[in-house]
Amino acid sequence: MAFYRGNEMSEEKILRPDLAIIGGGPAGLAAAAAARSAGAERVLVLEREPLAGGILNQCVHDGFGLVRFGENLTGPEYAARFLQAALAAGVEIRPQTMALELTAQKQLWILGPRGYVRVEAGAVILATGCRERTRGAIQIPGSRPAGVFTAGAAQYYLNRQNLMIGRRVLILGSGDIGLIMARRLTLEGARVLAVVEKMPYAGGLTRNISQCLEDYDIPLYLNHTVTKIEGRQRVESVTVVRLDEAGRAVSGAERVYDCDTVILSVGLIPENELALQAGVELSPVTGGAMVGDDLQTNIPGLFACGNALHVHDLVDYVSAEGETAARNAVTFIRAENRAAARPLIPVRPAAGLRYVMPFFVRPGARPLISLRVKEPLGRRRIVVKAGGRILAERKFPRLAPAKMERLTLREPVPLAATLLEVMIYDS
Ligand SMILES: Cc1cc2nc3c(=O)[nH]c(=O)nc-3n(C[C@H](O)[C@H](O)[C@H](O)COP(=O)(O)OP(=O)(O)OC[C@H]3O[C@@H](n4cnc5c(N)ncnc54)[C@H](O)[C@@H]3O)c2cc1C
Repeated sequence: MAFYRGNEMSEEKILRPDLAIIGGGPAGLAAAAAARSAGAERVLVLEREPLAGGILNQCVHDGFGLVRFGENLTGPEYAARFLQAALAAGVEIRPQTMALELTAQKQLWILGPRGYVRVEAGAVILATGCRERTRGAIQIPGSRPAGVFTAGAAQYYLNRQNLMIGRRVLILGSGDIGLIMARRLTLEGARVLAVVEKMPYAGGLTRNISQCLEDYDIPLYLNHTVTKIEGRQRVESVTVVRLDEAGRAVSGAERVYDCDTVILSVGLIPENELALQAGVELSPVTGGAMVGDDLQTNIPGLFACGNALHVHDLVDYVSAEGETAARNAVTFIRAENRAAARPLIPVRPAAGLRYVMPFFVRPGARPLISLRVKEPLGRRRIVVKAGGRILAERKFPRLAPAKMERLTLREPVPLAATLLEVMIYDS
């Protein structure tokens, strides 16, 4: 970076917006419009792609916006609403502009059509989305033929490039994108032989299992995994094996599928290279920043939201989170809240919970609590407590790891609280 920094810069040299938002996906766009409504004068969105809208631009299926608009929109339709709102609010969006470096002082270095520019903003929001785990991340043995795609890459080729990626397909992992691609490939004339999942439960939402697999007679094999991918130039076969309760391959329970394509839908990871660079504390569980209820990281004035913070199931909640980050960022810029910038009270999840967001709360705050369980559970009651006092309580008929649950405190966090506990009880 030092090499570039010493070099000639564009005539702009330094930009000084009130708020800079890294990422023009649904989180960043919603944050941008909300920041303008909250009074920020100059709001800048940096987007590395030619078109803002984020990953939704390649999600041509419907099912977006049911919570937010009560309408069943496609991904591009949903994204377009937020793009229009941001533009109408006077937000400056810079496409084809990559944020390359972020310092602990929130100084940003960006590269785009207008050259290499420094950005010094009153506050910065990280809305960089997430990325997919790849074959390397899960270490499947075998040869390295063409025909192995992540689900997102397959979605990009089909939906954005109009390229068919294969004819006989096996999908490893039952995350939502893989399920959606099972249906999409079937509609395009491919034969999806199976979806195999190593866990005893599906990784994706129930509605996607029903609408993308069951409706098309695509089998889902739980407790199964891929042990070998073979082929010289192109994938020729894949070995799938059943796993025992300890997750070990059951000898003699292998099955070989003749196929030309393998799709991996084995998890998403928040995109946090810039956050790491800046020294943001990241959670080993979510992979995102350890934020307070105001979505502020440990670096004052640096906020995070959307899939960069934790992987969401519904984009509608991503937009809402972007708006919360923006309102708090504007409060920060106005310096109304500087003394209380860092939340003080830790939030402790019960053993059955994978994580709870936020990680800290401020006394007097009334945050929205989001959470995910580690494994499927039947009827349960989730209770948020400070000392002996119950601040929120909700019954759930069932809980699944794929589904993010949310509950709002019915009263503020007591000023004297030292710990917020999120408990699970049989109900
Ligand atoms: C492949 C894939 C398919 C998905 N399909 C569905 C689905 O069908 N239904 C559903 O509800 N959810 C789906 N999701 C989840 C969906 O991504 C989220 O609900 C939502 O798009 C997250 O919004 P976001 O703004 O946080 O992230 P994104 O939509 O990922 O937007 C992040 C943006 O930040 C930009 N960016 C990142 N780093 C930089 C940088 N350094 N400089 C400049 N710009 C940067 C990216 O280009 C991108 O535009 C999918 C996710 C993936 C990865």
